[in-house]
Amino acid sequence: MYLERIFQQDPHQIAVCQGDIRYTYGQLYAEAQQLAAFLKESRGPLLVFGHKHPRMIVSLLACLLSGRAWVPCDSSLPAERIHRIMGLCGAEQLFYAEDSEINAAIPSFHWNDIPFSDERFEFIFCKERIAYIMFTSGSTGTPKGITISCGNLENFAQWILQYPQLSRASILNQANLSFDLSVADWCMALCNGGTLLLNSKQDQFELARFFSLIQKQSDCTLVCTPTFLRLCLCDHGFCQEQMPALKAVFLCGELLPKNTAALMLQRFPELYLFNAYGPTEATCAVCGVQITAEHLEQDLLPVGEISTAAVHITVEQNEICLEGDSVFRGYLNQDAQSSCYHSGDLGTIEQGLLYCFGRKDSQIKYMGYRIDLVEIRHHVEALPDIQQAVIVPQYDRSGSVRRLTAYLQPFPTCIDDLRHELAKQLPSYMIPSLFFPMEELPLTPNVKIKMR
Ligand code: AMP
Repeated sequence: MYLERIFQQDPHQIAVCQGDIRYTYGQLYAEAQQLAAFLKESRGPLLVFGHKHPRMIVSLLACLLSGRAWVPCDSSLPAERIHRIMGLCGAEQLFYAEDSEINAAIPSFHWNDIPFSDERFEFIFCKERIAYIMFTSGSTGTPKGITISCGNLENFAQWILQYPQLSRASILNQANLSFDLSVADWCMALCNGGTLLLNSKQDQFELARFFSLIQKQSDCTLVCTPTFLRLCLCDHGFCQEQMPALKAVFLCGELLPKNTAALMLQRFPELYLFNAYGPTEATCAVCGVQITAEHLEQDLLPVGEISTAAVHITVEQNEICLEGDSVFRGYLNQDAQSSCYHSGDLGTIEQGLLYCFGRKDSQIKYMGYRIDLVEIRHHVEALPDIQQAVIVPQYDRSGSVRRLTAYLQPFPTCIDDLRHELAKQLPSYMIPSLFFPMEELPLTPNVKIKMR
């Protein structure tokens, strides 16, 4: 059992750090037990609001101990979206993992509201029980709840821990805890008795701080999106001589451009560069492969080895299909999913390697975030006076989305007001950067939208 290991580590070892805040495994367990005792008194999923505070992890452990589903909500999400998520999952209360609060009439509690308890709970593995729910952009205009069971998570942990090259003493996190890429970092750290280093938005914004954190480690793995890696590579100091402790990078969530991988291997010749693939619906990642100089000779980089995958992968009519114990059983409040999950990703399998070359629908990845363009359109068209909107992603030469542009009809008199209204509903990364009148929509001769 891999999840059980989360509760069996050396209590003196440092488990989670964020800035100056440090939790040993012992402290993590003590707080998780106290919160679990409180959670046992009510039912339903627990919404947790915060950014990268270690109490987010305390709440995760408390949910595993008390059998409640953990619903992490990053503090960057607008209050109305959180309200919506709360309604969708039927959560009665929100737990503030840190001091910041949202300005909304949501029933909530803070750490100081939790009574002391000396009750102790054991983690009881139950395959079907929901471990967490993550919400992603939905094509209907409403966030989609993806429910991941303890069985799904166990299968993912089993797969990821078979790579000793990734299991280092410290695991550096980048993604918000409400994105499933972060499952790779906390799972790798906690199941292995390592230290999880949570990096706030601020740490990532000031790369010098982030780099000095790497320099303080003895042995670490960075878990991030290719977009973030590209940002790091803009600094020439991001190299093996300056950061010998960085031994491995786990990438997932979006296309890894060949030039990013090439530059990374040039700067860190001995690094274990791992490109993983998977949707939130199949618990973070289902396969991965070490990227080596040999792969750089191909047009497209592989996203995983099929032989070591956590699930059964097939490509049917060019679409990647996933089946097995890491695959979820269905979206929240919807009928159960068939055993085979059609990912919407276009791909191929060649010589035991999976390649992914795009989507068959309106879903994109922008700065690592998963966005359904229909959801943005839905919100723009819901604004008074806007009759029609088209949201167009613009790509750079490496194939990554550079920005989102909205074409509107009629064109409003004040774009700032429109942005302000959208910000009440959508996270900032879903708000288009540019707005134009519909007549300027770039069309190809056969009236299709020009994407590049
Ligand atoms: P998410 O649910 O946010 O993890 O997003 C899952 C989607 O990200 C997948 O369906 C793919 O479209 C994309 N994706 C994940 N990993 C990769 C990868 N290594 N290369 C290309 N696209 C990826």
